[in-house]
Amino acid sequence: MLEINNLHVKLEEEDKQILKGVDLTVEAGKVHAIMGPNGSGKSTLSYVLSGRDGYEVTEGSATLDGEELLEMEPEERAAAGLFLAFQYPVEIPGVGNMTFLRTAVNAQRKARGEAEMSAAEFLKVVREKAKALKIDADMLKRPVNTGFSGGEKKRNEILQMAMLEPKMCILDETDSGLDVDAMKLVSDGVNALRDAGRAFLVITHYQRLLDHITPDVVHIMADGRIVKTGGPELALEVERNGYADLLSEAV
Ligand code: ADP
Ligand code: MG
Ligand code: MG
Repeated sequence: MLEINNLHVKLEEEDKQILKGVDLTVEAGKVHAIMGPNGSGKSTLSYVLSGRDGYEVTEGSATLDGEELLEMEPEERAAAGLFLAFQYPVEIPGVGNMTFLRTAVNAQRKARGEAEMSAAEFLKVVREKAKALKIDADMLKRPVNTGFSGGEKKRNEILQMAMLEPKMCILDETDSGLDVDAMKLVSDGVNALRDAGRAFLVITHYQRLLDHITPDVVHIMADGRIVKTGGPELALEVERNGYADLLSEAV
């Protein structure tokens, strides 16, 4: 589903290479986790895939179902089925959460040449999905993420994901700042979306999220590259021994 080949990325503003040849293939129906020390390039990878400004791809490719992502506008990537849940979800004062969700859903439908969701249908679906994530009606009416707690913001990200039904979901440290209960809610939300036609790339610092979202494959990223790939046991090894041993082995 997602295929990244020899991806090299530098900052546009300064001559700093951040990704130095990332190779990664995520198959449909699978959950891949990326772990790695701070500053290794995990967030940069998710930003580049979603089309954020400020980065320059100097080499390599990234395709979603065979389509080159790196040449698309961010909204085209979303229409193609890519979703990024942010490490730090942004507050959008003045834009109601419902309005935001409905606009996003219908923009995506339009880009795919599908009919808009009616107001009644939208309300029904959003209420159902919000309930499963313990998001109350009041949170749906408030401006997007404005004044939400860390846990509420993350749950709201998962609600967006549930509404947009993407093919490829990237979660960048969705667990950071979550208490155990919020993490369980977020993980349950993700697990409910696991499907043979959908894949996940879960970026995390800690094993604890992976206790709830069991990955099929675990990758370790260091200094702009994937340096080791294994099964869930690799995450446990990181938890026990840290990165130092793994990295000295990998070099
Ligand atoms: P991770 O998510 O693995 O912690 P990041 O992708 O956030 O790593 O960062 C990788 C490296 O790139 C770090 O050294 C970081 O300081 C640098 N970096 C990323 N984006 C920028 C930016 N916009 N300006 C300056 N440095 C950046
Ligand atoms: Mg970081
Ligand atoms: Mg990061």
